[in-house]
Amino acid sequence: MRITLLAGGVGGARFLRGLAAAAPDAQVTVIGNTGDDITLFGLHVCPDLDTVMYTLGGAVSEEQGWGRAGETYTVQSELAAYGAGPDWFRLGDRDLATHIARTAMLRAGLPLSAVTRRLCERWQPGVTLLPMTDDDVRTHVIVDDGEGTRTIHFQEWWVRLHAKVPARGFLPVGAERATPAPGVLDAIAGADFVLLPPSNPVVSIGVILAIPGIAEAVAAKTVVGVSPVIGGAPVRGMADACLAAIGVKPDAAAVAAHYGPGLLDGWLVDTADAGAAFAADLAGIEVRALPLYMTDVPAAAAIAAAAIGLARELLG
Ligand code: GDP
Ligand code: CA
Repeated sequence: MRITLLAGGVGGARFLRGLAAAAPDAQVTVIGNTGDDITLFGLHVCPDLDTVMYTLGGAVSEEQGWGRAGETYTVQSELAAYGAGPDWFRLGDRDLATHIARTAMLRAGLPLSAVTRRLCERWQPGVTLLPMTDDDVRTHVIVDDGEGTRTIHFQEWWVRLHAKVPARGFLPVGAERATPAPGVLDAIAGADFVLLPPSNPVVSIGVILAIPGIAEAVAAKTVVGVSPVIGGAPVRGMADACLAAIGVKPDAAAVAAHYGPGLLDGWLVDTADAGAAFAADLAGIEVRALPLYMTDVPAAAAIAAAAIGLARELLG
């Protein structure tokens, strides 16, 4: 069985860990969001790719859901002593080694897809992890902070401002000129089906779908998604602030309607949202309700098994 997923960070990674338990023999390809990438101290940081890599590699900080377990912050506190910022984006010592190694390989001329493959040789995530593109794409947020309208990097809005300043919209800068990384379109076309884990529909999955060619390739497949919204709120994080900015209500049916029946064939909602099955604008999307809290690996595995089951049913 060949399964391809589009994934952001924490929600994607937790689902993937469940998928590995539910379908250990499946050949899984993950197309990761790089719109959240940021350059700090000259280093190329890929938060979403690293969250997937560390989680599947057994190295993630379980409390945070991102970053390395057993992390220390010696380098960042030394930088702070020089007044060298930013101080709002946490960079642990172990994590910094990843960014240094990545940046060195990029400087030597390797594309991000090849660099990611090299980093994964250490972590053996058990999936093929591909960045959505080798080109630079940076998600910017349009904010109105009293001093007028301006755009800031996604991480500044998300991490420094905690998404508290209302966003007017998102700009995946560079996306329109970007091309899918080598292997991305083949992994979609060659998959038995595509799964959308409960990742942020706007700044994770939405940005991947903004790379020319990816949405069309995905729409041509049988696609089953998992709602990141339960009972009218995102389970973790501030995805509701992203949905509000694009005029989508934070509810499971509205998120599926946003993806639309042209893209989605099946949609898993939490039992609290079972009513979504009757939403008029979800005609053409097969909705199933089950508990969607990924409290532990077995819970995530049950969700992954249901997604696979629905995809197989839709394939007939
Ligand atoms: P990020 O890049 O780290 O923000 O991670 P993603 O984009 O992959 O996922 C963020 C989304 O995961 C948020 O919108 C959450 O609502 C969703 N999420 C996190 N934990 C759970 C969970 O246990 N169940 C469900 N259904 N969604 C979750
Ligand atoms: Ca992210």
